Amino acid sequence: MKPFSFHSPRGLGEAVDLLERHGPGAQVIAGGQTLLLAMKERLARPSALVSLAEVADLRGWRYTDSGALEIGAATTYAALAEAELTGVPLRGWHTEIAAVAGDLADRPVRTMGTIGGALCAADPRFDMVTLVVALDAELDTVGAGGGRTIRAAEFFDPVGGTVLRPGEILTTVRFRPQDGFSGVAFEKFRYRVFDAALVSAVCALRLGADGAVADARVTVGAVHPAPVLATTAADRLVGGTPTAVDTVEIGLVAADEVLPAEQATTSVRRYQRELIGVLVGRAIARSHERAHTTTAGS
Ligand SMILES: Cc1cc2nc3c(=O)[nH]c(=O)nc-3n(C[C@H](O)[C@H](O)[C@H](O)COP(=O)(O)OP(=O)(O)OC[C@H]3O[C@@H](n4cnc5c(N)ncnc54)[C@H](O)[C@@H]3O)c2cc1C
Repeated sequence: MKPFSFHSPRGLGEAVDLLERHGPGAQVIAGGQTLLLAMKERLARPSALVSLAEVADLRGWRYTDSGALEIGAATTYAALAEAELTGVPLRGWHTEIAAVAGDLADRPVRTMGTIGGALCAADPRFDMVTLVVALDAELDTVGAGGGRTIRAAEFFDPVGGTVLRPGEILTTVRFRPQDGFSGVAFEKFRYRVFDAALVSAVCALRLGADGAVADARVTVGAVHPAPVLATTAADRLVGGTPTAVDTVEIGLVAADEVLPAEQATTSVRRYQRELIGVLVGRAIARSHERAHTTTAGS
């Protein structure tokens, strides 16, 4: 491993200064679950590491006055998974974020790994990458040039990586208030429990006053370098009440949209295509059931 200096700033401003001072060779480290592996394999060779471990502002979550959920980028999966035991439990469909955090990897990875680290690593197989695009989250960043807010779908470069600029730090992940969606469901397939997803799928929908689907977002991850919004499949949901037959049919529409048959030329690609259909269908059925339960209970 190439020698590097290690810095542990106490505040965000200090972290930004350190990254600027140490230039392009400097890199942020959060939980280290992706970065340290990359360094061991010499895929990353930073000259300086700026740790977020002591930057308290980047940990935890809060509800804003408008009901949006803001999660600090250095919040660990383990903390999110146990959100219901804290003073700020997650509400309604926001609990799906905690469920996803609690079901990925293994306990050591969940204890160290952070939501922001996963998003900045931008590996399309990482669950949070698919989830933030599906839920139309906003990502706040700060760098020497100031701060900006980026829609999740624009944060990930379609050919891989992110639009983060050198020295820029992801600070906050902001999710819509409760009325943004009525029901959300995340589905994934992995070979073994600690493997990354071979395909992931999310359906987030909102019911109108008449009980029909008023808005829907269908997102598929782990297939291409960035999550794909299956807009034709989502449009098919709007205005109706999906039946079991519809969920199967719309799953197939999503498969055609995200991985057309002519592109599925290997056995893995053909398997992924099958999985897209199944997982999207399941995500639609489960999100609709949740939406229905929430609406009936309110
Ligand atoms: C054995 C194993 C199994 C796993 N299984 C799964 C799984 O099933 N599902 C899944 O989704 N993931 C899985 N993961 C991946 C895991 O989610 C990521 O490794 C982890 O979330 C990365 O977060 P981190 O805090 O450790 O990031 P780090 O490794 O510290 O950083 C990752 C990258 O992001 C940058 N970075 C980190 N934070 C910021 C920030 N706030 N601003 C700017 N840049 C930043 C770093 O510079 C680095 O380039 C697995 C990992 C391992 C090791």
